[in-house]
Amino acid sequence: MKISIVGTGYVGLVSGTCFAEIGHEVCCIDIDQNKINLLNDGVSPIYEPGLEELIKKNLAARRLEFTTNYESAKEADAIFLAVGTPSGSDGSANLQYLYAAVDASIEVMSSGTVLVIKSTVPIGTAAKLKNYIAEKTTKEIFIVNNPEFLKEGAAVNDFMRPDRIVIGAIEQTAAERIAKIYEPFVRQGHPILTMSNISAEMTKYTANCFLASKISFINEIAKLCDATGADIDEVRKGITSDVRIGTHFLYPSAGYGGSCFPKDVKALVKSANEYGSPLQIVECVEKVNVEQRKYVFEKIATFFGKNLKDKTITFWGVAFKANTDDIRESSAIYIAKYLIDAGAKLRFYDPEAGANFLEFMQKAEYPVQLCEDKYEALAGSDALVLLTEWKEFQIPDFTKIKQMLNGSAVFDMRNLYKASEVKQADLDYFAIGRN
Ligand code: NAD
Repeated sequence: MKISIVGTGYVGLVSGTCFAEIGHEVCCIDIDQNKINLLNDGVSPIYEPGLEELIKKNLAARRLEFTTNYESAKEADAIFLAVGTPSGSDGSANLQYLYAAVDASIEVMSSGTVLVIKSTVPIGTAAKLKNYIAEKTTKEIFIVNNPEFLKEGAAVNDFMRPDRIVIGAIEQTAAERIAKIYEPFVRQGHPILTMSNISAEMTKYTANCFLASKISFINEIAKLCDATGADIDEVRKGITSDVRIGTHFLYPSAGYGGSCFPKDVKALVKSANEYGSPLQIVECVEKVNVEQRKYVFEKIATFFGKNLKDKTITFWGVAFKANTDDIRESSAIYIAKYLIDAGAKLRFYDPEAGANFLEFMQKAEYPVQLCEDKYEALAGSDALVLLTEWKEFQIPDFTKIKQMLNGSAVFDMRNLYKASEVKQADLDYFAIGRN
């Protein structure tokens, strides 16, 4: 089928490339000319394992193109909207990019085309868009919600092997057309779930808020472990052997981040209040997450007797999780700001997200020092703070860490290391919930 994707970011680029890989003719549209230029040269503007190879392959096969011109959408059987829906100042989703993409699409699209909302949008958005479009054009346009569940860092694999495809639609023919597009991805039996538009919108938020609540839950329990002397690893194993609980998203950390959980938690809280049905648990999920970043800062500050003036701290990892260059809402940003506000200097190293973090912190006017090597980043530092669970941080040389550091403190905020191994190198070791 002929597919246009509007918005060539983490979701749009992965979706478009994977659709092309299974044989669809795909045109990815973006307003960012630099991004389109890079993509036309076969260069991925984001770090996502396996993606660049697929882009190159499908560009060469002429199943994939990149443009800033919406004209290509004229011929499309379906137009997928995958633009950002970031948090507005009041926590609700900002839909300005979505409406701009809709305006540009309806100018060119043919009657009978399916407009697919892939972006995460507030409950009721499809219904509002339907009215909005009806006022602007007499063309027959079908609106389908098809929320995306891929994880950054494993996005290609997730898209190619989805646990489920959710399709929200009123018109059956529109739902069937989108289901047909996805058929090759679900040959192993994973379901295509068809439902109402509003249920599809709600499904996406419910999934993200539930996953975020697991993270906040285990972080709070880890704090209690710190207070009581219990060990979070033992407790985690004790609970996750129960299949009702499961094993995923139950690892303590400096709090969740990324472009989805923080904004989706806020947006669902806002929507729920607007519908007069507040979500008390979800409200607490965010509160606990904010506290968790402060808790990590307090751990560091306490080690230095609450005096961080002129202390140098090194971060290993600033991406919000491993295998991505995405730093949006990363806990590293918040903890860096707390430390710098308290008088500390910050050095950091990340295998992929360094340039993004540097640019972000410079714009925010927080001075930070980007380093090209994880050991060099420790030179003259008083403490190492590990924030992202990249593979290359998993088995470091603790003797080398000790040699490079000026001080002796290692804050392992992903609980990657064995305390005994770190202490053997004459280092002070701090984890979360592992007193
Ligand atoms: P992104 O910021 O990486 O990409 C958005 C892209 O849209 C940018 O390249 C931007 O230039 C482009 N854009 C903005 N306005 C445009 C317009 N009018 N016309 C054409 N292009 C335009 O965003 P993302 O992370 O891919 O997220 C997109 C949506 O998918 C969001 O709603 C998000 O919540 C949702 N989502 C994201 C993920 C994820 O892991 N990133 C996972 C599932 C769902």
